Amino acid sequence: PYERMQKIREQNISPSLRMYYQKPLLLHQGHMQWLVDYEGQRYLDLFAGIVTVSVGHCHPKVTVAAQKQLARLWHTANIYMHPSIHEYAEKLTSLLPDPLKVVYLTNSGSEANDLAMFMSRLYTRNFDIISFRGAYHGGSPYTLGLTSVGLYKHSVANGFGCSTTMLPDVFRGPWGGSHCRDSPVQTVRKCSCSEGVTSYCLAALPCCFQSGVCHANDQYIEQFKDTLNTSVPKTIAGFIAEPIQGVNGAVQYPRSFLKEAYQLVRERGGVCISDEVQTGFGRTGSHFWGFETHGVVPDIVTLAKGIGNGFPMAAVVTTKDIASSLAQNLHFNTFGGSPLACVVGAAVLDAIEEDGLQKNCEDVGTYMLLELAKLRDEFEVVGDVRGKGLMIGVEMVTDKDSRHPLPAEEISQIWEDCKDMGVLIGRGGLYSQTFRIKPPMCINKKDVDFAVEVLRTALQRHME
Ligand code: PMP
Repeated sequence: PYERMQKIREQNISPSLRMYYQKPLLLHQGHMQWLVDYEGQRYLDLFAGIVTVSVGHCHPKVTVAAQKQLARLWHTANIYMHPSIHEYAEKLTSLLPDPLKVVYLTNSGSEANDLAMFMSRLYTRNFDIISFRGAYHGGSPYTLGLTSVGLYKHSVANGFGCSTTMLPDVFRGPWGGSHCRDSPVQTVRKCSCSEGVTSYCLAALPCCFQSGVCHANDQYIEQFKDTLNTSVPKTIAGFIAEPIQGVNGAVQYPRSFLKEAYQLVRERGGVCISDEVQTGFGRTGSHFWGFETHGVVPDIVTLAKGIGNGFPMAAVVTTKDIASSLAQNLHFNTFGGSPLACVVGAAVLDAIEEDGLQKNCEDVGTYMLLELAKLRDEFEVVGDVRGKGLMIGVEMVTDKDSRHPLPAEEISQIWEDCKDMGVLIGRGGLYSQTFRIKPPMCINKKDVDFAVEVLRTALQRHME
């Protein structure tokens, strides 16, 4: 059916939906961490859709729960009660600290972040929102203003007149390059501010990995203060950050940076939003939520992707007070919190617990980081290996001294080679120069050995 699908694609599907690989895959089946195409070729999926299939493709428990609910009741909209939304809200909030106890279910991460911004403004009666450079918070017109990964900007060329934002009231903190990270991997260079350095941020910016210069936390905080004091004087509504930047290539912040940033934002009357769309549900291994790794409790968290293991659902969880500010307006969405979504969401939470997936992320993720770090030591073009749990970035460079991104065609060759040998990897960063490894959380050490060997072979071929 390949040629037929290609033809339909050309004629009837939006060209903005870019596909991976020169010859895109036509997939047929998924089972846990494995995908099978129409030719029967099996692939180890290290990207989980886009960091979405959390507990495994067609996880039996989630599939059975969905099938049962499908036969009973799909949809009610929020004008009637059904038990599953109540049970799910109770279950989900039992995993969040006080005072994060009120849930609003939506359908996508973009919608969740739209709503989080809306709530911040209603609650604070302020207007300005701060996000980080390098962030990805969504593709809706509203969240595109927060999203700052180059590829997704609708720039001057598209007639928006501004290269980073479609909204005039979004301000950016310092570049999201990170230096002092909490990672088991020994880094290429030591920096004076902690055991770990390196990492990528946008080129030519003051970032350890790109420039080789270490900027201690203090400098970052000063820059952040600067943003708060000069760009958004006294009117801050909200500050949104991913605990680890996902689309930007597993970029981490200097240690204790978010903690200090939260404090500064709150002193100025703003609320803090943690975008847990990629980092939530145990993926970072050491903690269930990404914000916990920074020792902070946000005022609002937004959840999507892994929440439904691929079923379209998302959520905003916040405090009673912040949620009440929205209640003054009628705010509605048709599909959010459907019985089907809630049953799937609950089964995902059960699977994470019963299959021990958070611990697996920690064990297998740490093992993988260490195995990948060996590749970094073996190959000049592997510039950086970073991340936490099963949220890993491998940045490709021309050489470790210059840290320039490896040319796109060379990276693509390695990446295509991995696919041909049965391993699917994501791409991220401004130049798509970072391999993103964020598999279903059920992968095991044998899978890691296979994946690392495949990547090693692809790198060796590249060096020939
Ligand atoms: N936040 C983060 C951190 C994301 O990675 C994404 C999607 N890549 C979104 C929000 C937007 O989610 P969605 O595509 O479901 O709208």
